[in-house]
Amino acid sequence: MDFSPSPRAAELLSSVTSFVADEVEPAAADYHREVSEAARNGTWQESPVLDELRKKARAQGLWNLFLPTEHAGQYAEQFGTHGGAGLSNADYAPLAEQMGRHTGLAPYVFNCHAPDTGNMEVLLKYGTDAQRAEWLEPLLDGRIRSAFTMTEPGVASSDATNMEATAVVDGDEVVINGRKWWSSGVGHPDCRLLIFMGLTDPDADRHKRHTMVLVPLDSPGVEVERLLPTMHTYDEPVGHGEVSFDEVRVPKENILLGEGRAFEIAQGRLGPGRVHHCMRLIGQAELALELAIKRGLSRTAFGKPLVNLGGNRERIADARIAIDQARLLVLNAAWKLDEGGPLNALSEVSQIKVLVPNMAQQVIDMAIQLHGGGGLSQDFPLASMWTNARALRLADGPDEVHRGVVARLEIGKHQS
Ligand SMILES: Cc1cc2nc3c(=O)[nH]c(=O)nc-3n(C[C@H](O)[C@H](O)[C@H](O)COP(=O)(O)OP(=O)(O)OC[C@H]3O[C@@H](n4cnc5c(N)ncnc54)[C@H](O)[C@@H]3O)c2cc1C
Repeated sequence: MDFSPSPRAAELLSSVTSFVADEVEPAAADYHREVSEAARNGTWQESPVLDELRKKARAQGLWNLFLPTEHAGQYAEQFGTHGGAGLSNADYAPLAEQMGRHTGLAPYVFNCHAPDTGNMEVLLKYGTDAQRAEWLEPLLDGRIRSAFTMTEPGVASSDATNMEATAVVDGDEVVINGRKWWSSGVGHPDCRLLIFMGLTDPDADRHKRHTMVLVPLDSPGVEVERLLPTMHTYDEPVGHGEVSFDEVRVPKENILLGEGRAFEIAQGRLGPGRVHHCMRLIGQAELALELAIKRGLSRTAFGKPLVNLGGNRERIADARIAIDQARLLVLNAAWKLDEGGPLNALSEVSQIKVLVPNMAQQVIDMAIQLHGGGGLSQDFPLASMWTNARALRLADGPDEVHRGVVARLEIGKHQS
């Protein structure tokens, strides 16, 4: 296992690191203030700050860097700079870590944000030429956004076979009914596309009942009923929505891969996306540790810098150990994905999905404590970083489900 980056990845890491520090960081406070103020006034809109940053990043070739190696070349030919840089998962991971330092802005600047990255990968891997031309091209170009609508309020959605919303073929069309929630991205003014997962054949084998369908957000019968706050914050202007589907009709050609094949797609979709989430969280944990140390050195209580009081030095050491351990585990998962695809990395991807959000939550919590009351305020990014880490213990499947995958594979090694 060799984690040293390729020369191209090393060069890009240096460019992304500088861009995040020199361009994104100084703009982040203004960006968040603008989008929050607009949302408070009832308008969910994008800030021109993002457009400016995107133009600059793109001009430097820092665009769609997440695109997997095997597809980047093909798309570079077709779409020029849309095509990414041809990085492996292991090469992209340190770039995602840098983007994670400003997770509410940097991934969007480089067109490397969830859920669009996962949705673009689905279109790349499973889309027809016509589906790619209609939806992938504008997503790669950053002209539109998308959402992934699987989770439902009415059923325990950590078991994806429970989904009850329907996608039924009727002649040349698919008819869609039901209700989804936690559809990340539907609040954004540029969101145009939903990847919908619905029940097609209740009598088929458990993993062949559901179908994924491309549904334009403006289809008659699609309604964003409300946007859900995550622990009091709306993640504006992206948002997580509850969406109803009432007799929505789309052409049969909008089916992805084929009827009853949603689980095949789900398996292929989530490996790289989870590596990206985890590396961004490692970036957040690094930032939290840095802030904790700076704060602890700059304030004094009981005659000593805070950093030297009580068990704070040990807490800092434990944070460093936890972050470095987690990073190695994520790089290992990325390497396994590169070597043999998602099926080769099932346990490793689930391992990091459990470990990293928990680790980040604890490190950020330690940093909040060292900041005292300020740590919970908006003056520091820590409270929103904690919320993000906490949410990622549920988004993309709760901890328990991923522990279940690791345990199943581990026990399976010893069963005849
Ligand atoms: C911020 C955020 C963004 C999200 N974005 C999206 C999105 O874009 N698209 C989308 O479709 N969904 C999204 N989700 C939804 C997310 O994937 C689900 O919330 C998650 O899969 C759990 O489903 P559920 O909420 O129905 O919980 P349930 O299935 O009701 O589970 C509740 C709890 O039961 C326990 N449990 C479940 N299974 C097991 C088990 N096997 N062993 C032990 N305990 C278990 C766990 O403690 C679990 O948390 C998002 C969620 C959040 C918080």
